Amino acid sequence: MKFNPERLSIRDQRMKPFIDPDEIWGIINRTKPDETRVRDVIAKSLDKNRLTLEETAVLINADDPDLIEEIKAGARALKEKVYGNRIVLFAPLYIGNYCSNNCKYCGFRSSNKEAIRRTLSDEEIIKEVSALEDNGQKRLILVYGEHPRYSAEYIAHTVKLVYGIKKGRGEIRRVNINAAPFDIKGFRTVGDAGIGTYQVFQETYHPEAYKWYHLQGKKSDYDWRLTSLDRAQEAGVDDVGIGALFGLYDWRFEVLGLVRHTNHLEACYNVGPHTISFPRLKDASTINMNKDYEVKDDEFKRLVAILRLAVPYTGMILTARESHDVRREVIKFGVSQIDGGTKIELGSYSDIKNEEQNLNREQFMINDARSLAEVIDELLDDDFMPSFCTACYRLGRTGEHFMEFSVPGFIKRYCSPNAVLTLAEYLVDYADGQLAEKGWEAIEKGLLRLDDDVAAKTKARIERIRQGERDLYF
Ligand code: SAM
Ligand code: SF4
Repeated sequence: MKFNPERLSIRDQRMKPFIDPDEIWGIINRTKPDETRVRDVIAKSLDKNRLTLEETAVLINADDPDLIEEIKAGARALKEKVYGNRIVLFAPLYIGNYCSNNCKYCGFRSSNKEAIRRTLSDEEIIKEVSALEDNGQKRLILVYGEHPRYSAEYIAHTVKLVYGIKKGRGEIRRVNINAAPFDIKGFRTVGDAGIGTYQVFQETYHPEAYKWYHLQGKKSDYDWRLTSLDRAQEAGVDDVGIGALFGLYDWRFEVLGLVRHTNHLEACYNVGPHTISFPRLKDASTINMNKDYEVKDDEFKRLVAILRLAVPYTGMILTARESHDVRREVIKFGVSQIDGGTKIELGSYSDIKNEEQNLNREQFMINDARSLAEVIDELLDDDFMPSFCTACYRLGRTGEHFMEFSVPGFIKRYCSPNAVLTLAEYLVDYADGQLAEKGWEAIEKGLLRLDDDVAAKTKARIERIRQGERDLYF
């Protein structure tokens, strides 16, 4: 059924489209970035305030190289000041690539006849998840094409299946999903299955551009997608992630679109998005994208820093679509989650053999194919603390990013010791040699940063982990 706002009850009237492209362009065009203003805006963000659309536009319009450096330095300072050095790790797991949409940029689009379509069977999901657990993963995001096969019930089934798979000491403690929008009932169904974050990207917030990229299929309905997180909230799924696919339209517009979306969720539901993603368009099978809106590396770095400052309380996700070098630099501008050991070809974690092997089963090309261990190794070199923490979600502490941000001492009491404990588990179960040595050194350093009583409790729990206990958290 096509989304029709008129049919909604009075209570649901807030589920109306809330993006006005003329308003956004008006703000971009009339905002002038003088030096003082840029500095004031950065200072406001460092004071832990979300920026308005106008203030974000001030940063967007700051083209002077020195000011751009100040914006990046501001983002780095905000990250250090508020979040410390933790980076949460996860992996994507592609469940199926059937798709009835025809998004021009995606390798799974229906007109791509070269794509080999498949959906992992339950046995294959078990194999894949077991392989991921063998690598030490604890947090997954399941990804699906949009197709009648992938109903809310089916997705709920796969989520529950994944939670139940335990290999050795491995288990998946948080299952997020990236799937096409549901109706309210569908959101209830996936919510009841215990999903962590429901993530959906608007791709482009510009309605005309959106139309051009999504000519056919359910996804051609811009409003249905834009209001999907309102339906999620209505269904009690309040842990949501937003994103834009950078490269489809002007990056400045998309940044303001993301901020507008954030304001909308805050205003209507009193809770902003848990995470913001900023995937950048990558080559995909048989696509030939026009490069009009290509986002260059330096623009990408800028926009990540601006988003960090614009919405200081939200988690920011940087994926392996980006190269190792870009990731290593951009991570400093306030990223809180990255994927590691990523493979997006269906069935590739466990090397499921079949006649279609090595054929076209990828949605796009990834650019950072390092193993989880290699990613962790570099994080440790760069003085980050890798974390697999899932404590807030397990304890029903929702809005964790907001709490990290707004509750004094929250990070020191919960996030930092939990990062240490989950890293300790990883080291005992999956690391040896040099990596283990480096990891234990980082843990020693991490303990020194904690208050004495928390450090003592954390040490005691590390001992219990060495003795074989698992899943200890604050
Ligand atoms: N099918 C669902 C949907 O479209 O929302 C969810 C899965 S889709 C596979 C996940 C995301 O991948 C899309 O929302 C899009 O932003 C991103 N994506 C698609 N094609 C891409 C490309 N060529 N480069 C980078 N990201 C891409
Ligand atoms: Fe299908 Fe999603 Fe790819 Fe569009 S982006 S073709 S909906 S898998």
